[in-house]
Amino acid sequence: MIKISNIKKVFRTDEVETWALNEVSLEVKEGEFVAIMGPSGCGKSTLLNILGLIDTPSSGTYLLNGTDVSKMEESERTQIRKGVIGFVFQSFNLIDELNVEENIEMPLLYMGIPAKERKRRVTEAMARMNISHRNKHFPSQLSGGQQQRVAIARAVVVNPKLILADEPTGNLDSKNGNEVMELLKELHQEGTTIVMVTHSRHDASYADRIVNIFDGQIVSEVEM
Ligand code: ADP
Repeated sequence: MIKISNIKKVFRTDEVETWALNEVSLEVKEGEFVAIMGPSGCGKSTLLNILGLIDTPSSGTYLLNGTDVSKMEESERTQIRKGVIGFVFQSFNLIDELNVEENIEMPLLYMGIPAKERKRRVTEAMARMNISHRNKHFPSQLSGGQQQRVAIARAVVVNPKLILADEPTGNLDSKNGNEVMELLKELHQEGTTIVMVTHSRHDASYADRIVNIFDGQIVSEVEM
């Protein structure tokens, strides 16, 4: 599903050059659950952003389902991102002014899905994430765990082939964190490919494989 080869990413700000990734190669098979671990600043989020087509590598290639996406135009990348990839972030990234239903509906609106189908899919996603009883609540009225369940519902409502999660339990207590990990595990068991950045050994234990990054390079991989 994912094959990146010799990816480098350099950030240039004024005089400073930061090599966030240096010759990173990684394959993720369809249906696999991979955890990416490493100390702060080692390049994990940069890698996830490149995998999610939010950012582009400075050099190297990225094949997503066999298509070279590394040199695509922004508009083409956006199309692929919306149709294939679901994102889950540490900070939930919900829209404060929209209620639960409306937040989950957003990606379907972008995709131009008709109203009746949107309603059906939002209702189904809320039920799966056990958040239906809060459908008219706004993010500020929800606990952290509930907000993350809404964020996962918003990610899965497009039936993504790939879920990218950046520290999905980072702002949650252990009970809510475990609930979120159980939901990701269910999606994995249904065949969704998941790549997750985490600091937590416990969360990483849900994965099939742990990829350790240090200073912009993959230093080891551990099959679980
Ligand atoms: P991690 O997710 O492992 O904490 P990041 O991928 O966020 O690491 O960052 C890797 C390195 O790249 C860090 O040194 C960080 O300061 C730098 N970096 C990340 N994003 C940018 C940016 N937009 N501009 C400049 N430097 C950046």
